[in-house]
Amino acid sequence: MMKVFDAHCHLQDPRILSKTPQLIKAAQDTGVVNFAVNGVCEQDWGSVKQLSIAFPSVLPSFGLHPWYVADRSPNWFKKLKEYFDSTPSAAVGEIGLDKGSHGKKIDFSEQVEVLRQQLELAKELNKPASVHCVRAYGDLLELMKSMGPFPAGVILHSYLGSAEMVPEFSKLGAYFSFSGFIMSLKANKAKKMLRMVSSDRILLETDAPDALPKSNINSLFFVEGDTSVAEEIHGQRTTSSSTPDSSLANSSQVVTDALMLPKETLNHPANIHNVLEYVACMLEITKEELAELSYQNAVRLFSYEGSKLLQK
Ligand SMILES: [Zn+2]
Repeated sequence: MMKVFDAHCHLQDPRILSKTPQLIKAAQDTGVVNFAVNGVCEQDWGSVKQLSIAFPSVLPSFGLHPWYVADRSPNWFKKLKEYFDSTPSAAVGEIGLDKGSHGKKIDFSEQVEVLRQQLELAKELNKPASVHCVRAYGDLLELMKSMGPFPAGVILHSYLGSAEMVPEFSKLGAYFSFSGFIMSLKANKAKKMLRMVSSDRILLETDAPDALPKSNINSLFFVEGDTSVAEEIHGQRTTSSSTPDSSLANSSQVVTDALMLPKETLNHPANIHNVLEYVACMLEITKEELAELSYQNAVRLFSYEGSKLLQK
């Protein structure tokens, strides 16, 4: 079976946490070996830590996401550092900048300051950092240039920046991680950008429970109990152990695509295969080749001192 590494997800998210053990099992049955689980706010760092203790496949990351910058407590940074002291296997994330519809409500200079502090911490601890960026790639590049390079690596998660910026970020130590969101780019734009990413810097992720791939519904896994998904679709695959394929397409009366699902439909970590297939197609390489190289890249990046990958 192809081995796949989910380089960025949120299995601690309250929308799915009660189902996470089944989601991990189902995804593992399809070949997903590791899950880089990213905390986003002070309130969820504890759940990330618990998941890491309970599941050897979970690689924890702690960080303050830009959406939660305004809600941070006065001692958030001290608390963050305590999490790294008590969980030396953790990486940094999710951190970042956001000027999108939600992020623009949060003071941008505070976002930059909070990101700078956490990038400095990542450098100091020699750990990779998982970075979110929405409509702020210019600002991010400028900040990273002023602080870089980042020898332990920076994961530009769900990268949707320009092709032109890829070499600039690469020089600073960035890796480019792709989720279902890449399917929202025009195919020619996605191709142009993907071709700028060198094969030793490409990663795959689900960002689950967000970023449901815009694939044919019959090829997707859904989270059991997700009320946004119609009953008849649910019956098809929830915690099924079969590998994603289109074998259900013929037998099913439901032939449609994910574009018709409501945008709150939850993503399942086994849907990394849909991202793999799409990106491989854009790069005109086989799924096996992309699975192998992205897996090796993730293992290299996550083999920092203290990582669970080195404790096996
Ligand atoms: Zn995320």
